[in-house]
Amino acid sequence: MKWLKGRGAVVTGGGRGIGAAVAEALAAAGASVVVTARTATEIEAVADGLRAHGRTAHAVTCDVTDPDSVAAMAVHAQELVGSVDILVNNAGVARSAPFLKVTLQQWEEVHRVNATGTLLVTQAFLPAMLERGWGRIVNVASVASFIGARYITAYAASKHALLGMTRCLADELGGTGVTVNSVCPGYVDTPMTDENIERIAKKTGKDAEEIRSGLEEMQPGGRLITPREVAHAVMTFMPEEAAALQGSELVVRGGGSAAP
Ligand code: NDP
Repeated sequence: MKWLKGRGAVVTGGGRGIGAAVAEALAAAGASVVVTARTATEIEAVADGLRAHGRTAHAVTCDVTDPDSVAAMAVHAQELVGSVDILVNNAGVARSAPFLKVTLQQWEEVHRVNATGTLLVTQAFLPAMLERGWGRIVNVASVASFIGARYITAYAASKHALLGMTRCLADELGGTGVTVNSVCPGYVDTPMTDENIERIAKKTGKDAEEIRSGLEEMQPGGRLITPREVAHAVMTFMPEEAAALQGSELVVRGGGSAAP
């Protein structure tokens, strides 16, 4: 069912993992999707794959931390799909270190992508959504937007910032026809998680499969979440009937109570 036909969408960090699954879900629902990230080969592969299934998709490179790159992507995206009605702020990076080993560079890099990047991209698309009186913005936050844990100081702080930003914007958007909401996944089976596992394996000398099993056991559902499950959560905010979902935080972690 092409219930998003006529809608233009931008997915940041769409070259792999959760972003690629979100792009697929939006395109399958009929939206014209712009897939964006820094690595051209990855976003082109995602867009090619969607077009091969008869979907409408384009690849536009963008570094969300660079205001000029964001401005250029926004112009190009609007040229390609007409109006951008849907924005999924998914681009993100994770770094881990014990608190005393968090470097300024690490701290700033994680905040620039996860928090500042979302601010810049949202500022680029929001004015036109407000003018049209319709828009759906979904920010991919994390359970680390609510809780702290050892070794993820910079990441959790940036995801707390992202959630704070989302809540403030939601308060401003009431009655405009534009909504902003968050999805907050637990550990998802993506290249980001693979990289984390590799990093831990290198540091501890433990076997990567053993680390993965440990990670799975730690999850309330006893397994990692799939990117498609996160994409499904993102899609919850898209319909006309979702107009009253404003500033909602949808936790996706396969078990436990909803609030982490
Ligand atoms: P991946 O590492 O698999 O993908 C991240 C995407 O973000 C890539 O397409 C990457 O492309 C893009 N990206 C990174 N930096 C930038 C940048 N400066 N500008 C533009 N794009 C950028 O991650 P996931 O799919 O796992 O994560 C997606 C989101 O979900 C992130 O925000 C993450 O924090 C969040 N999340 C992930 C969880 C997990 O367990 N995996 C759990 C909870 C939340 P490129 O490098 O080419 O730019």
